Amino acid sequence: MIPLFLCFASLALQGCVTPGDGPQPNRVSTGQEIELGQQMAAEVEKEEKRLNNPAIQKYVSEIGQRIAKQADRQDVPYAFTVIDNPETINAFALPGGQMYIYTGLMKMCENEAQLASVMAHEIGHVAAYHHGEMITRQMNAELVQSILVGRSKSELGKITGQLMGAGVAMWFSRGQENESDTLGMEYLFRAGYKPEAMVDFMNKLAKYEQEKGGGGPQPRVLKLFASHPATTERIAHLEALLAKYPIELRNQNQNHFDRYKTNVLDQIK
Ligand SMILES: [Zn+2]
Repeated sequence: MIPLFLCFASLALQGCVTPGDGPQPNRVSTGQEIELGQQMAAEVEKEEKRLNNPAIQKYVSEIGQRIAKQADRQDVPYAFTVIDNPETINAFALPGGQMYIYTGLMKMCENEAQLASVMAHEIGHVAAYHHGEMITRQMNAELVQSILVGRSKSELGKITGQLMGAGVAMWFSRGQENESDTLGMEYLFRAGYKPEAMVDFMNKLAKYEQEKGGGGPQPRVLKLFASHPATTERIAHLEALLAKYPIELRNQNQNHFDRYKTNVLDQIK
């Protein structure tokens, strides 16, 4: 198997960099980011099937907008689409704020707050300009421009595939993942959800990884968070973050078990 976390083979014009923490340069404008995201969304929708259930699409969209309203970045059109794929545990945001959520992930969540926690993490990547930073790191301005004007269709397909799949490890650095967890928990909390839902979901994921991932072939389905840092390391970070939120404030927030069961778990099998 070809290691996917080499730089994009043909895109690595600036060499393979493993960025450390701290702010990184971003030379992608918001307009370019949105345009690139729209082109990538078209690629995603060639590969994946939208869930044909308007009620669920609306429900998930409302969760997303509730969180997006709390984000530090408001100059991108946040949008949320559920993909009909119960075998794939995944969710990802494209540059410019469009997000895709797989039914496989939704089945794994026990309540609305857990789903919201994953979505909040993804919104964190968008809000902190991680896509622009990554593109700046991996591509020169000419290549970005040639993709935008449709002269590099194959490159567009390649980077979209990377973002959708296991190549996510090379999209975001450890520092960016930690930053998204920090921002995500804050947005989750401000949107009225219990921030511990983020820890609960990561624990669930760690357990699943252990059960399904030990020994035999790695589950192809588990694309979500197929990145550094390791799940256990992230749980430790999330638990430390959680301590910032006083218990009496957390207790006023919700998990929404019933609403999630009625709207999602009873509907998708
Ligand atoms: Zn992430």
